[in-house]
Amino acid sequence: MKKGKKLYEGKAKIIYATNDKNLVIQHFKDDATAFNNQKKDVIEGKGILNNRISEHILTQLSNVGIKNHLVKRLNMREQLVKLVEIIPIEFIVRNIATGSLTKRLGIEDGTVLDYPLVEYCLKKDELGDPLVSREHILAFKWMDVFELDFIYEEVRRINDFLQGMFRGVGIKLVDFKVEFGRSEIDGKREVMLADEISPDTCRLWDMRTDKKLDKDRFRNDLGNLVEAYQEVAIRLNLLHEQSNIRPLNYPKPKAVKIKKK
Ligand code: UDP
Repeated sequence: MKKGKKLYEGKAKIIYATNDKNLVIQHFKDDATAFNNQKKDVIEGKGILNNRISEHILTQLSNVGIKNHLVKRLNMREQLVKLVEIIPIEFIVRNIATGSLTKRLGIEDGTVLDYPLVEYCLKKDELGDPLVSREHILAFKWMDVFELDFIYEEVRRINDFLQGMFRGVGIKLVDFKVEFGRSEIDGKREVMLADEISPDTCRLWDMRTDKKLDKDRFRNDLGNLVEAYQEVAIRLNLLHEQSNIRPLNYPKPKAVKIKKK
């Protein structure tokens, strides 16, 4: 697979063409942005962790029948993915109220929702990605009703699956954002999950302590972002503990004295 010219550069990723017109390379950068690009930094290693974590999650989702754009991971920072036209809506699913929801509606932070809440935001940076309703989406033809109903069911399934997956490793899935795209290969039109699912796009809290293991560490200046993402990767069994990586919450190992015989 030959890497071609840069087609698009976003806040956290770059898309490159390939010699196959239906496939592109998705490159994960170390750039972190928040609050509609007002806060920016480069966090070394973030892109590598997101590439690996997103590969794992999208592969698991594919195994349970959730179609997505991932073909395969190519290297530390890159994935081969199907070329799709991204639908201009961000789909947000919430299990626990936090972030913009609590501010917008005055809901107490940490309120556990009886049912998952699905929200739609228009992808328009200059407007701050405003919340829109199903009616807006249909009125302005950002999607047709079949796409909207299909994606609603898909995001509910994704939420069920991810909640179980993270619960199994002691993590609460608080909320997440996903994007979908349209593809047309040999005249066959499909809508599929695209972009990434990683600690950049999810809120993940430690089950026991509510410690934040996601991008809120950057948004709220909590520090140790890479260590938190590493902890997610370690718990998902994607990364082995390294001597210089001590997962958050784990007590510092005691020095072991070796007795001489
Ligand atoms: N989110 C995202 N990209 C965005 C906006 C939100 O990945 O442009 C994710 C965010 O990480 C969180 C969820 O969507 O997991 C809900 O975010 P919220 O609407 O609370 O926005 P925020 O408080 O981050 O502005």
